[in-house]
Amino acid sequence: MTQELHIVGGGMAGSEAAWQAAQAGIPVVLHEMRPQIGTFAHQTGNFAEMVCSNSFRSDDDERNAVGLLHWEMRAAGGLLMEMADRHALPAGGALAVDREAFAQAVTERLRAHPLIRVEPGEITRLPDQGHWIVATGPLTSDALAQAIRAETGTESLAFFDAIAPIVHFDTIDLSQAWFQSRYDKGETEEERKAYLNCPMTKDQYEAFIDALLAADKAEFREGETAGYFDGCLPIEVMAERGRETLRHGPMKPVGLTNANDPTNKPYAVVQLRRDNALGTLYNIVGFQTKMKYGAQVEVFRMIPGLQEAGFARLGGIHRNTFLNSPTLLDDQMRLRSRPNLRFAGQVTGVEGYVESAAMGLVAGRLAAAEIAGQMLPPPPRVTAMGALIAHITGDADAKTFQPMNVNFGLFPPIDMKGGRRGRKDRYKGYTDRAKEAFSDWLASAPVSVGV
Ligand SMILES: Cc1cc2nc3c(=O)[nH]c(=O)nc-3n(C[C@H](O)[C@H](O)[C@H](O)COP(=O)(O)OP(=O)(O)OC[C@H]3O[C@@H](n4cnc5c(N)ncnc54)[C@H](O)[C@@H]3O)c2cc1C
Repeated sequence: MTQELHIVGGGMAGSEAAWQAAQAGIPVVLHEMRPQIGTFAHQTGNFAEMVCSNSFRSDDDERNAVGLLHWEMRAAGGLLMEMADRHALPAGGALAVDREAFAQAVTERLRAHPLIRVEPGEITRLPDQGHWIVATGPLTSDALAQAIRAETGTESLAFFDAIAPIVHFDTIDLSQAWFQSRYDKGETEEERKAYLNCPMTKDQYEAFIDALLAADKAEFREGETAGYFDGCLPIEVMAERGRETLRHGPMKPVGLTNANDPTNKPYAVVQLRRDNALGTLYNIVGFQTKMKYGAQVEVFRMIPGLQEAGFARLGGIHRNTFLNSPTLLDDQMRLRSRPNLRFAGQVTGVEGYVESAAMGLVAGRLAAAEIAGQMLPPPPRVTAMGALIAHITGDADAKTFQPMNVNFGLFPPIDMKGGRRGRKDRYKGYTDRAKEAFSDWLASAPVSVGV
């Protein structure tokens, strides 16, 4: 009889891992503690819940590394990409989704799969026997985190991310804000108007920065370190780094013309992106924060167009649990000290929904092959998935290991023979090479896909 694969955590990684293994004909038991035991960020009992932004980021598979990950996941029959495409919202070149419909659809598909059994409840120790994938994410429950620490002997690292606030659309003043994607990017009119923009004059910007710097911030708890991951810096920390930092970051005014006042170039612009299919909610792009709630309302209502804003959700801070993967995991994503356990998702030190789901996809396939009695190598290094795995399981410096987004810097350099190539051509070179290698890897998979 075929052995079962147990997966702990029905988040981005666990959901995709379960789907991939089951599609390969392997019976899966999916253990999920929600909704019986919650986390401070998840709000439902659904699988693949997006806890903050509703975006899977760039969908450009020719010149963007995240877009390439999308392509690889689609090529591999990824469930999350299929559901994301089905519930996509206009977002001017990015893949944003209706989070509620997306998670609901993933949940229904997993529950309906004949080879997947859902086992509710928290797993509190590392099992000695059987094949397991641990995909418990940045908010791994305390009991399991302790069990992992006891096994690995290595302190998990902790740092803070921050949640961006969400605004009710009907509280935004459209005589001040206007719809436009930066550089009018997008295929359709809807996409070219995917963002709501709030303009600021120089005086308004300076007053806003003063307020950010003066605002009450949440305190760090004892024992927590205050190291931020650079890709997810809280807005007030960016402001602390320099008064112009935000104007060159999430508040940059380039590629936008104020439809309410076309001759006046804004000094800075705050962008909001649609957060649900109904268009009733908008999140403030890049405005992760650890300001206290009262301060957030006060400061964000200084933004022109948001003076009367009603907030569906305010920003917050959270801890992130991840392994020192370069020392602990082999290139099959197995714990060296206990090869019956694989790890996948954010807990391995990748960062982001897409990267986590992609690591789940690979872990599911590797585990399925192993259970079927064959060894599947990880995807080649020149692919986006392979580059990420190579980074976390070996290339990264273990002493300074921090979570990593996919990016072309993780790929082996492209052969530059044949003259100088512009950056865009180089990126295209990376993605062409990756697609060919990934297709070969898929074709080499020893297990049959499809039940
Ligand atoms: C507050 C917050 C905001 C974030 N914002 C973004 C963002 O905007 N964009 C982005 O790309 N990424 C964001 N991230 C990172 C995001 O969590 C990950 O990118 C992604 O969700 C991780 O996928 P995962 O499958 O590894 O973990 P999760 O999606 O978190 O899934 C882990 C699952 O394991 C379950 N679980 C935990 N412990 C146990 C246990 N012991 N037994 C059984 N089940 C368990 C949890 O309930 C959960 O369902 C954010 C993370 C946090 C915490």
